[in-house]
Amino acid sequence: MARITKTLQLPMPADAVNQQRALQFFEAYNCQMMVGPSDTPYYLGTPTPRVCRFCGRTEPEVSFRKDAHVMPDFMGNRNILSYFECDTCNALFAKYEDSFANYLGVARTFNQIKGKNKKVPKFKDNKTGLEVSMGAEGLHIKTIQGQDPLIIDAATNSAQLVTTRPSYVPIHLVKLLLKMALCLLDEQEVADYAWARRFVTSEEHDAAAQGMDLLSVMIHSIPGPPVFPAPFAQLYTRSETAPANIPEKVFVLYYANYYFQLALPFSRVDKVRFLAITPPLKTIDIPVFPLLIGETWLADYGPASFKRVDFTSNQKRVGEEHRFSLSFEKMVELPLDPVAPNDASHEAIDVKPG
Ligand SMILES: [Zn+2]
Repeated sequence: MARITKTLQLPMPADAVNQQRALQFFEAYNCQMMVGPSDTPYYLGTPTPRVCRFCGRTEPEVSFRKDAHVMPDFMGNRNILSYFECDTCNALFAKYEDSFANYLGVARTFNQIKGKNKKVPKFKDNKTGLEVSMGAEGLHIKTIQGQDPLIIDAATNSAQLVTTRPSYVPIHLVKLLLKMALCLLDEQEVADYAWARRFVTSEEHDAAAQGMDLLSVMIHSIPGPPVFPAPFAQLYTRSETAPANIPEKVFVLYYANYYFQLALPFSRVDKVRFLAITPPLKTIDIPVFPLLIGETWLADYGPASFKRVDFTSNQKRVGEEHRFSLSFEKMVELPLDPVAPNDASHEAIDVKPG
C-alpha cells in the first residue's frame, strides 16, 4: 500500500468525451495515495499517540476502541482500517454510512456486494411489497400482483424497477466521501484541511455548503455484475503544471458498479493559489475523472452513465422515487411459494444478472 506515483494502466472506452476527460484529468493530477482490498488488516496512521484526524481530540477525552474502517464495511471493506478515528467520530460517520446505503437502496442488492454479515443485503419496499434478495441461482424478485414495480422488456432482456429509496440525508453522502478522502492525506497535510474536518464532524458548515458547486459528486455508473466487489480509493494531487483554477486534491472511490468523485474543499494551499489569480477567479474547475473500463464490458452489458449530483442538502429525503435499470441473462417466473398460502397474491421472479 505504498505511495504510488503513476496511475494504473486500465482499458478505456474510446469515445471522444471520455478521451478528453482522461487527457485533462491525468495532465492535471497525479495519484498520491491508493488503498484497496487486503486479505489482512492494514492500518493507516500510527498507534501512538492516538489523535483523531477529524475532531483533533486525543485520549482520554475520546476513546479509540472501535475498528475504524477507512471505507465502509457495508461496501465490502474488511481490512483497511485507521488508528486516527475516535469512537465519537466513528459513531457519527456510521450515520453517514446509513444515508449512503439508503441512497443506493435496491441497487445494493443488485450490485451483489456482501455487507457486514458477509451476505448480500435483502431489499424490502413496504409500500409496494417488493422484495429483492440473492438466491442460489440469481436474484430473487418478489412482487405483489397489481402493484408490479418491474417493467420488463423481454426483447432486450432488460427491465426497469421503480421503487422507493429508504430515507437519507443527502449531505451525509458528501461528508462520507470527504471523510474517506481525509483518511488518505499525508499526516502533514491534515492541518491544511480545517474547513473540511469541521464540515465532516459538525453541522457548522452545512448552511454554507448548500448548493456549493465544489461539493458536487460526480458518479459514473457501470452496468452488469459488480466491477469492484471490494472498494478501493485513490487520492489525486494537482501537478505543478496544472491550471491554477482547479482544486489541490480530488478523491475517487471505486465501489460495486460506480466511481464516485469528490474534490476536497478549501485547503489552505488552494485559498492562497486561488486568491493570487488575476483577474479574480470566478469558477473553480473540476476535471472529470474518466471511465476506465474496457470496451468489451460495455459492449456486453450496455453503456455506462455519468451524472453530477448536488448532495449538499441537509434535509432528510423521505419516499424518494428510485428508478433502477437492470439487464439479465434469463428471467424465470417461479411458482407461488407452497409453504406460504397467505402469500397467494405474490409472484416471484428469478433474475440472473447479465
Ligand atoms: Zn474524533
